[in-house]
Amino acid sequence: ELIRYHQHNAAVILSEELGSGQFGLVWKGSWKDGQVAVKTIREGFMSEEEFKEEARVMMKLSNEKLVKLYGVVTQHSPIYLVFEFMENGCLTDFLTARKGTFSQESLLEMCLDVSEGMAYLETSNFIHRDLAARNCLVSKNNVVKIADFGMARFVLDDQYTSSYGSKFPVKWSSPEVIKFWKYSSKSDVWSFGVLMWEIYSEGRMPYDLRSNSEVIEALKAGLRLLKPRLCPQSVYNLMQWSWKEKPEDRPSFAQLLHELSCLEQQP
Ligand code: ADP
Repeated sequence: ELIRYHQHNAAVILSEELGSGQFGLVWKGSWKDGQVAVKTIREGFMSEEEFKEEARVMMKLSNEKLVKLYGVVTQHSPIYLVFEFMENGCLTDFLTARKGTFSQESLLEMCLDVSEGMAYLETSNFIHRDLAARNCLVSKNNVVKIADFGMARFVLDDQYTSSYGSKFPVKWSSPEVIKFWKYSSKSDVWSFGVLMWEIYSEGRMPYDLRSNSEVIEALKAGLRLLKPRLCPQSVYNLMQWSWKEKPEDRPSFAQLLHELSCLEQQP
């Protein structure tokens, strides 16, 4: 069944269901002769008025390593968010499906892609708040791009927004986020450290044998994720730097981008 909606006088046509997300079903579709991904927002799952305001800001963010938000269709309920289509889907699934096939260069390249997009968000003073491999997507040419930036603010589900909730991303959250909901680019840096760990672990779940409350206790005791087998010590050093207790002791994304680029230059 094709569903047509009009945005800037061009129809958004939904073709096939891609999956189910935080806010509702995600569809593959077309808009202005190009492929797009359309997120449909179920009634009651998003604070829509606040989002509509913020969507203007989000649409102005433009970087090669961010999944582009083309537009928001608000004439109808449910509202539609129209995004750049990413052929190779979510990064976690991509990593798991191709486990064992990645070269050192390709793993480092994925970290570089994300650090580039995040360095751009950092300069734009925009905090992601839910950076993780599940919120990155992979293009046809295997470029990793960041999705869902800032969207966590509009989720209405308590299980996701409260740090005690079952869906809160504890394993990606810095201590100050878990304790005081204090989000910053430095809390994004902590999450980026975990994301690098996911890349070098080829899609494994971080702290897979621990529950959320066990992770909180372990972090308090100073424990951190271990170096994945495929990860060079130089990259693990960057992860450990990103997991410093105090936000001010962590690197910026500009620094991480620089360090990762230097590693890429080395043979
Ligand atoms: P949410 O983050 O809102 O929970 P997701 O982004 O995980 O929802 O979307 C669910 C699924 O839809 C993803 O796993 C992915 O396969 C697919 N998807 C989402 N956005 C895109 C996109 N821009 N291009 C291609 N597939 C997408």
